Amino acid sequence: MHQRILLVEDERGLVRTLTDCLSGEGYVVETALDGEAGARMAAEENFDLLVLDVMLPKKNGFDLLRDLRQQGIATPAIMLTARGQVIDKILGLKLGADDYLTKPFDMGELLARIEAILRRATSTDQPISETFSFGDIRIDFPRAEVTRAGQPVELAAREYNLLRYFIENREKVLSRDKLLDEVWGYDAMPVTRTVDVHVGLLRQKLEPNPRQPRYFLTVHGLGYKFVG
Ligand code: CA
Repeated sequence: MHQRILLVEDERGLVRTLTDCLSGEGYVVETALDGEAGARMAAEENFDLLVLDVMLPKKNGFDLLRDLRQQGIATPAIMLTARGQVIDKILGLKLGADDYLTKPFDMGELLARIEAILRRATSTDQPISETFSFGDIRIDFPRAEVTRAGQPVELAAREYNLLRYFIENREKVLSRDKLLDEVWGYDAMPVTRTVDVHVGLLRQKLEPNPRQPRYFLTVHGLGYKFVG
């Protein structure tokens, strides 16, 4: 799936350069040359990311972003600001911009920021769904039910909470300390071995072959990572 970017920028030369560059990277790019047109498009269509100039005709980038956020539109945004506009940066972050780039900027830098934001956006959006599946395992979060090939799997509360935390943070390396803090809480006995035991239990119950985990991976020296 091609990700869609809305570029709101009034410098036509920059619009052309950015459009070429982003399209070349496989993004679908729509453009608006003033703030009002940008606001309308951002509200009416689905975009994965907004690239907003601050100084725009009709409606500036800050007002545009604030209006969108007030309408509950949470599309991630990168703002483009002129050199030295430090106040702008603070204001924009308050309004819910995800990142900033000062003009003139390096195209590689912009691409790196865009990738980082889109990656973040996708990984935080996923847990909102009410069910999650990997392999033949299916988890129904509202019911707190786990099935394997359609058959119920009995998980203790702690195992279920650990599983849920893994899923919410999938693809991330999680240290034993982090897992203890997040799943067991600060009042827990600070025994990192506890984590190993519970990961072992999840593997026993949920992995096709617990001796060769496919989903609950050990990251040597760092902790664990769930991939699914
Ligand atoms: Ca401008």
